[in-house]
Amino acid sequence: MTQRVVVVGGGPAGLLAAGHAAERGAQVLLIEKMPRLGIKLRMTGHGHGNMTHAGDAEQIVQHLGPNGPFLRPALSRFGPRELIAFFQTRDLASIIEPDGRVLPATRNAHTLVTALRGYCLEHGVTFRYRSQVDCIQTDRSDARRVCGVQVGTTMIGATAVVLATGGLSYPATGSTGDGYEMVRRLGHTIVQPRAGLVAMVAADTWVPDLTGLSLADVTLYASQAGRDLATRRGDILFTRDGLSGPAALNLSLDLAEAFERGSVRLCIDLLPDTAAEILEADIQREMQEHGSATCRSLLRGRAPRSLVPVLERMAGIPGAKKLAQVSAAERRRIVACLKGLELRLLATRPISEAMVTLGGVACDEVEPHSMASRIIPGLYLTGELLDVAGETGGYNLQAAFTSGWVAGYYAAQQA
Ligand SMILES: Cc1cc2nc3c(=O)[nH]c(=O)nc-3n(C[C@H](O)[C@H](O)[C@H](O)COP(=O)(O)OP(=O)(O)OC[C@H]3O[C@@H](n4cnc5c(N)ncnc54)[C@H](O)[C@@H]3O)c2cc1C
Repeated sequence: MTQRVVVVGGGPAGLLAAGHAAERGAQVLLIEKMPRLGIKLRMTGHGHGNMTHAGDAEQIVQHLGPNGPFLRPALSRFGPRELIAFFQTRDLASIIEPDGRVLPATRNAHTLVTALRGYCLEHGVTFRYRSQVDCIQTDRSDARRVCGVQVGTTMIGATAVVLATGGLSYPATGSTGDGYEMVRRLGHTIVQPRAGLVAMVAADTWVPDLTGLSLADVTLYASQAGRDLATRRGDILFTRDGLSGPAALNLSLDLAEAFERGSVRLCIDLLPDTAAEILEADIQREMQEHGSATCRSLLRGRAPRSLVPVLERMAGIPGAKKLAQVSAAERRRIVACLKGLELRLLATRPISEAMVTLGGVACDEVEPHSMASRIIPGLYLTGELLDVAGETGGYNLQAAFTSGWVAGYYAAQQA
C-alpha cells in the first residue's frame, strides 16, 4: 500500500495538516477541488485575516460554543501562542487589535495563504488542483482501514486521509459540504448543519428604515415563549431586513435551533451600563429641570437620531410633548423602551451567507488528541467539518488550524 497521507481540502485546516505531516516526514498529497488554495481564508476578517484571538488556549475553548472543550487537548498543544509563533517563523508577524483580534501584520489574509503554501512546498507537499474527491475508500477487511480516496474514476492510495473539506457556508469558495456525505457513508453521525454567525431577519416594519445604523455596546436578550434563550453584548448593525454586527452574529449561534420552533423575541438594552432605576431617576431629574424641552430632545440625548422616531412610537408618546407634561407612566414607558427595544426575529439569513456552519461530524466519534476517527482507522477529521463553531473574533480559524495541526502530526505517524 502507498505510504502516503492524502489531505482533502486546501483551506486553513488542510494546509496546516499537509505541511505538518510533511514536516514530520510523510509523503503528502493535498487535493483541492478549486483552482486556488484557501479561497475562504482569503476573505476572512474582511480580507485582513483575523487568524486567532489574543489569550490562552482556555480562553479559545470558552468561545468555541458547547463543543469547545472537545478541542481543549489539541489547543493545549497548538493554541493561539503556537499559531502566532508558527507564522512568525514564516516571516509573518502578527498584530493584536484593541478588541483582541489577531491579524497578520500585513493586514492581508492572502499572506496567510502564501505562508501556508510556502510551508507545504518547503516540506515537499504535492498539490493537485481542480480535483474533487468523491469518496473515501476503505479496505474490505474487518478493520475497515482507510486505503485511499476516489477522484472521479481514479483511486488514489493512502495510508491516512485527513478530511478538511469545511462546512456549507459560502459555497462559491468550494465549501459545499462534500465531507458530510463522505463520512456519513462510512458510519459517522452528522449533527444537522445550520447557519451560524449569520445575519437574522426581523418581522418589524420599522427595521428597514434603520438600514445601516450601528449601535455600539448594547445587550441583546433573546427569549421564546417566555423562556430565556441567550444574552449577548456588543455592537449591532441594522440591515435592510434585520440585524447583523458582531453581537447579533454571535447571537445567531444560540438561536439556530430555536428558529425551527418559531420566532424569537429580542430585547435590546441600549444603555446596558445604566440600571433601569438610575435611568428613571436621571430622566425624572431632566424632566424637572428642563420642563419646556421635548421628549424628542430627551431621547436624542440617549439614542441615535434615526432610532428616536421608533422609540417615540413604541413608548406611545409624541416627540413634541413637553417634558413637564409627561406622566409617571409615560416616563416608565420611555425607560422600558431604552432598556428593552423590542423586535421579533423570524429566522437567520440562508447558510450560503453564514460565516460558519453549526453542526457537522459528531465530536464524540473523533479522538480529541489526534482528530482520528473512532470509526474508521486512518481517517482524520478537521476544521469546520467538525461539530465545533465559535464566535466572531478569530476563534473559528484557530479551531481549523489547531485541528489541522494535530491531524497532520498523527497522520504522519500513521504513514
Ligand atoms: C466571509 C467569511 C469571513 C470569515 N472571517 C473569519 C475570521 O475573520 N476569523 C475566523 O476565525 N473565521 C472566519 N471565518 C470562518 C473561517 O473562514 C472558517 O471557519 C475556516 O475557513 C474553516 O476552515 P476549513 O479548513 O475547515 O474549511 P474551508 O476554509 O472551508 O476549506 C475547505 C476546502 O476544502 C475544499 N473542498 C471541499 N470539498 C472538497 C472535495 N470534495 N474535494 C477536494 N476539495 C474539497 C474547498 O474547496 C476548500 O478549499 C469566515 C468565514 C467567512 C465565510
